[in-house]
Amino acid sequence: MSLQDQIIARIAASGPISIADYMTDCLLHPEFGYYTSQNPFGRTGDFITAPEVSQIFGELIGLCLAQAWLDQGRHDSFVLAELGPGRGTLMKDVLRATATVPGFLDACRPFLIEASPRLRDVQRETLAGYEVFFADRAEDLPQGPLYFVANEFFDALPIRQFRRSGNGWREQQIGLDGDKLALGLGPILPQPALLKRLEDTLEGDIVEDSPTAAPVISELSSRIQHYGGAGLVIDYGDWRSKGDTLQALRAHAYMDILAAPGTCDLTAHVDFEALAQASNCNHSKLTPQGVFLERLGITARSQALARHLSGDALNNHISAHRRLTHPDEMGNLFKVLGFFPDGAAPPAGLDL
Ligand code: SAH
Repeated sequence: MSLQDQIIARIAASGPISIADYMTDCLLHPEFGYYTSQNPFGRTGDFITAPEVSQIFGELIGLCLAQAWLDQGRHDSFVLAELGPGRGTLMKDVLRATATVPGFLDACRPFLIEASPRLRDVQRETLAGYEVFFADRAEDLPQGPLYFVANEFFDALPIRQFRRSGNGWREQQIGLDGDKLALGLGPILPQPALLKRLEDTLEGDIVEDSPTAAPVISELSSRIQHYGGAGLVIDYGDWRSKGDTLQALRAHAYMDILAAPGTCDLTAHVDFEALAQASNCNHSKLTPQGVFLERLGITARSQALARHLSGDALNNHISAHRRLTHPDEMGNLFKVLGFFPDGAAPPAGLDL
């Protein structure tokens, strides 16, 4: 039975489901989930992420975290964690670049937090030659100083959507219209977690809430505050998400989110304010990716690499730089939020 038929049968038996439940099934169903069964990344996949655009992205992230490690007195032993590593490209570039920082790799235990067994295999292959460990959840990481990066991880976490009705909220749900999946609205209920959203919304407005995002940040930030370290969350979204940002992507084109469960990527904009509020350590100002990468020296690094290139390779290299930084491409849509403990400076490229 296809995933679509399974979801339809489930709704027919027990009633409408939340968008969060639908996303969880679509993305991580053990047999038919998008991340568990498809090959999402790259030009031949459904979307391209920053580490797949250019190796410079991961190199600069690695050097940013290594600088924080130097600034905090070089912890003897620390966890270097990546959440949602995709193909493992970012971690590979981080490890290659930080090999130039004396002592960093000797002190480092790299951990990948990855839910998809199939992608874990891809990551093992990409990172062949390195000793890497896997964890299911942030709380499974060993205690100790923590340096982490999450690129396009939080946008893949399930969201719930609510439409304002008076001073209450109706949850957007997925039910059936005949034998087809259809969007509908649940009953009007108060939502204590959305109290502050009564201030910036009007009747009929939609707000989103990612129930699993805040606990992940609480866990990671507690370790950073307690043991030291730093974190970088890079994703598309804004300080406060408003409106319906759920989207389905297949072969670089937008799709109806209900059309083909499990065969397209489903993501929503990240509500960075919710992450900041869940943090138990300091956080930086939200900074556009383009600004962050320029401050870390992407132009100088690109020019250095360009000296060895010509023809198509040079053109691709120049367009990759533009793609990562230009405000009309990923430079402005993607934002960076840094995490750091009391007494330390924000990670390089970010400020308070
Ligand atoms: N960071 C990568 C890939 C982003 S795609 C890059 O920039 O290329 C999202 C990644 O998060 C995938 O590896 C997916 O399998 C993983 N993922 C999604 N939900 C997850 C969850 N709940 N726990 C752990 N990993 C998850």
